[in-house]
Amino acid sequence: MSSAVAMEATWRRRRLSSNGGASEMTEEPAGQWGRAWEVDWFSLSAVILLLCTAPFLVFFFVMVCDQYQCSVSQPLVELYSGEATLRSIWDKAPSFTWTAAQIYTVWVSFQVVLYMCVPDITHKFLPGYAGGVQDGARTPAGLINKYEINGLQSWLITHALWYANAQYFHWFSPTIIFDNWIPLLWCTNILGYAVSTFAFVKAYLFPTNAEDCKFTGNVFYNYMMGIEFNPRIGKWFDFKLFFNGRPGIVAWTLINLSYAAKQQELYGYVTNSMILVNVLQAIYVLDFFWNEAWYLKTIDICHDHFGWYLGWGDCVWLPFLYTLQGLYLVYNPVQLSTAHAAAVLLLGLVGYYVFRSTNHQKDLFRRTEGKCSIWGEKPTFIECAYRSGDGGLHHSKLMTSGFWGVARHLNYTGDLMGSLAYCAACGFGHIHPYFYIVYMTILLVHRCVRDEHRCSSKYGKDWKRYTDAVPYRLLPGIF
Ligand code: NDP
Repeated sequence: MSSAVAMEATWRRRRLSSNGGASEMTEEPAGQWGRAWEVDWFSLSAVILLLCTAPFLVFFFVMVCDQYQCSVSQPLVELYSGEATLRSIWDKAPSFTWTAAQIYTVWVSFQVVLYMCVPDITHKFLPGYAGGVQDGARTPAGLINKYEINGLQSWLITHALWYANAQYFHWFSPTIIFDNWIPLLWCTNILGYAVSTFAFVKAYLFPTNAEDCKFTGNVFYNYMMGIEFNPRIGKWFDFKLFFNGRPGIVAWTLINLSYAAKQQELYGYVTNSMILVNVLQAIYVLDFFWNEAWYLKTIDICHDHFGWYLGWGDCVWLPFLYTLQGLYLVYNPVQLSTAHAAAVLLLGLVGYYVFRSTNHQKDLFRRTEGKCSIWGEKPTFIECAYRSGDGGLHHSKLMTSGFWGVARHLNYTGDLMGSLAYCAACGFGHIHPYFYIVYMTILLVHRCVRDEHRCSSKYGKDWKRYTDAVPYRLLPGIF
């Protein structure tokens, strides 16, 4: 514990000395990391509010389908009129079961085995796919971690087994996930809290890299936003990559398949809305795994520390709230008109195109240091300089052409278009499936502001030149 206190003191000294400088480029730019040094009252209140309410919010959205056909207002009306009480709602909800615990234990263990024990071979025969051992981005302490990128392979093996079971072996019903959904919520919460608490304690007692830890004086903030940057067990078990990428994201497409199987079982057919949700979300998930090596350079891995926000979020929030549309469609089997289905498909595909192309353009631009072609022309950019924590002067480029010249975060805009398409696939009967677009808008707008604050601290006047050249964030002419 004393080494942790000494470490904290060292970081604070560094920061104080950097704040003492008058130059635009500070030694360690404020806000360069994905969490604060000092916690104001507003952040602390938000952290405590989230810690206390997020698990109940997830329960609410799943429970309303189980008990109220996915009506969000009905339980509130019943509570208000006295027809129901919090206790009666809670009592009606399925609770923890050992069957769900067994399913979840098998699931997580299987994903650990695939992650740790099956080195990637898919990159050897899939042209253009970057798998196998890959470098991450440089951490604030100057380390470059190595990662075994085998997410696509894990996804393929898992889905091949799922298919083989459904078609030939019949070891379990394809509706198994849906049939145990609320008991599984208990199990995911247990793992989510266990892993966040373990990461928190580990940061004090045996951090993977002490120089990459970040403390505030506030225990709630440390717990939620994380202390360690890249906690690992042994050389290869990386908490961030494992929990971010599996078991939640591999499960995403299986959860949707389980919902489709339930529709088939209940009604004898699968609606076109369910097929659309399955297809559009599968594209998004596959894109994630195809680009897993690229993902090592995104904000989640490059700037966020590993705490409850990522640990619990990946175990609980993602699998339960990112799949609300499929759940809704089990209880409300919406059959869309051809025009409606075509519009949803178009919105989803255009959103995906904007999302992927924008990310690809930045990746290409940065990899080739601007020596590439964007929309058939040499890219334009702004030269930037910044100082890293160790005082070194570095140079970077901010592209001002292609999608990055239209707005500063069109990748988020594309993501939001895709998210809206999933929701719109559910028709307009209830607001329940639209929670996702509301959440994604808050997440990505907040992320955009957070990222721009960091970039402004990092690049100073050069960032101002960039924002003058590209004035809008997400929607040209509006925001
Ligand atoms: P970005 O990929 O947009 O990366 C932002 C960083 O890119 C900046 O910090 C800066 O880093 C660099 N940059 C900014 N402007 C430029 C420019 N003009 N030219 C070159 N580089 C620039 O952010 P994320 O990592 O947040 O997002 C990656 C993707 O993941 C997005 O498409 C997002 O939609 C998606 N996502 C999805 C989530 C989900 O839950 N579904 C959650 C989070 C993200 P530097 O310091 O290197 O200059």
